[in-house]
Amino acid sequence: MSVLVLNSGSSSVKYQVVQPDSGISLCTGIVERVTDYSVALREVFDGLTAAGISTDDLVAVGHRVVHGGVRFYQPTVIDDTLLAELEKLSPLAPLHNPPALLGIAEARKLLPGLPHVAVFDTAFFHDLPAAAAEYAIDRDVARQWHIRRYGFHGTSHRYVSEQAAIFLDAPLESLNQIVLHLGNGASASAVAGGRPIDTSMGLTPMEGLVMGTRSGDLDPGIITYLWRTAGMTVQDIETMLNRHSGVLGLGGETDFRELHKRIDDGDADARLAYDVYIHRLRKYVGAYLALLGRTDVITFTAGVGENDALVRRDALAGLATLGIELDETRNTATQRAARRISADASPITVLVIPTNEELAIARACAQVI
Ligand code: ADP
Repeated sequence: MSVLVLNSGSSSVKYQVVQPDSGISLCTGIVERVTDYSVALREVFDGLTAAGISTDDLVAVGHRVVHGGVRFYQPTVIDDTLLAELEKLSPLAPLHNPPALLGIAEARKLLPGLPHVAVFDTAFFHDLPAAAAEYAIDRDVARQWHIRRYGFHGTSHRYVSEQAAIFLDAPLESLNQIVLHLGNGASASAVAGGRPIDTSMGLTPMEGLVMGTRSGDLDPGIITYLWRTAGMTVQDIETMLNRHSGVLGLGGETDFRELHKRIDDGDADARLAYDVYIHRLRKYVGAYLALLGRTDVITFTAGVGENDALVRRDALAGLATLGIELDETRNTATQRAARRISADASPITVLVIPTNEELAIARACAQVI
């Protein structure tokens, strides 16, 4: 039994065929520079055929949908009504939801006999405590426009926090955790006993940590100032904050491997980008230590979190008084599997756990069909 998992983004379609029970991935690929989703989906199918996978082997198609809005959070079998409802949510995630919906529409045309399931990035954070979910803005405005902190990367935060419990052989309910999902997009969450109590992304995936191309937290006054004074349109501002900010905006580079090279070459912009990135990350770690009161485990995941030992070291350096001590040798080991990188004596355990959103989506699909 296999599930085809599709992650249709603004310029790429990532796909993977996964067996939800065994966790085995049969085939994985990415179609890049997508302009036409029907062409992209055909390329996905070519990829499956080349890997010797017949669509007859599939039991479902799982689609990553970034924003589920107020109403949608459980994995849901897609029908025309759901698609129409999701269409209405596009203003909440203008960069993420429209491509996912195009991908879903094309995949349903190509595989009409299979159940297609939407798995929402916001799901894990649906029950955030009100104190964390609500913005301190006019209550009526917030209600009317469904403004709250939804949180994203939820599939990853859930999966990684569960894997941390498995790795530590401890009940999930017993653990207070901080999960740092550091990829191109980046987010942090505080998870108490398996339930998130705060997360860094908000109404949209722009809030929080500094990211590859997104600003993360900023004074909302910047937006009105640019609009009023610099003559920038809403589109200009949105594009700037989403695509030309973050590590790219400061340092001219999104990939941390390149950023480190530039820093080594004495590039001051790259240095600043890295310092701002680390500063924000440490701020969130500190905030979540305070929210949790007692923290058992901090886990790094995603492209940067899993691979960049310098980021991990600098994010947690000098925090022995707060109970965090990394083991340098463990931290710099280049190993793919889940592993401990804290010293044995460290009161807080620090882990690196590879995320696997595709497997988590495949499992969510298997549960609903
Ligand atoms: P997303 O899924 O959000 O597109 P990923 O989780 O795949 O992103 O993370 C991609 C980022 O991971 C790259 O932009 C790069 O900065 C970083 N990355 C990948 N491999 C390494 C590595 N070996 N060392 C440092 N950073 C890495």
